[in-house]
Amino acid sequence: MSKSDTPVLIIEDEPGIRKFLKAALISHDYNPSFAETAKEGIKLITAHPPEIVILDLGLPDMDGLDVIRMIREWSTVPIIVLSARGQEKDKVAALEAGADDYLTKPFGVLELLARLKVAQRHSHKSASANAALFEVGDISVDLEKRLILVKGQEVHLTPTEYKLLSVLVKHAGKVVTQQQLLKEVWGMHSTENSHYLRVYAQHLREKLGDDPMRPRYIVTETGVGYRLKSE
Ligand code: CA
Repeated sequence: MSKSDTPVLIIEDEPGIRKFLKAALISHDYNPSFAETAKEGIKLITAHPPEIVILDLGLPDMDGLDVIRMIREWSTVPIIVLSARGQEKDKVAALEAGADDYLTKPFGVLELLARLKVAQRHSHKSASANAALFEVGDISVDLEKRLILVKGQEVHLTPTEYKLLSVLVKHAGKVVTQQQLLKEVWGMHSTENSHYLRVYAQHLREKLGDDPMRPRYIVTETGVGYRLKSE
């Protein structure tokens, strides 16, 4: 383990998951530390601020959402929550409480590394947030010039499509909840109109040459929102 290894704090009470994370992180140049309870975890964040926090939502001593809110009172450290399959409401609530992303148990090493990479990028936001050019696969989005290219050809988007794409680009790699998208794109405050999202996401995919059955760019996170792949 070298000094440059990224410190990651894992707050998780399940020994099996801690063991898995430890092996995966150490072999990919991360420096993991562990807490088994929320209280211990919060203490560690203050004592040795990590670069990323991985937080299990089901801890013995505190509600996961309260843990997120507590951390957010004084820290902007990226938080990736671990949640069980089928608990989409918990994921949405965690994201709304201030978590940055989530992993659904059971997850693999590749998925874990992808989430960590995105979290790291967003934690160094000051340097890259203003980078107006976003590129992935065959698409390139220049937010400053409002120019979208697919395989080098300019693509024309409607103002709403453009707004939707630009919100996804600003959060590239991270999931954006339906509520957040409806609010930022349409100024709506309820998720009753989530069908708009489905329709516009579909339009966007078509214009970007994405395959709706196996999307390369705009991924539907069922029950939660959408994620624009960042690589
Ligand atoms: Ca647990």
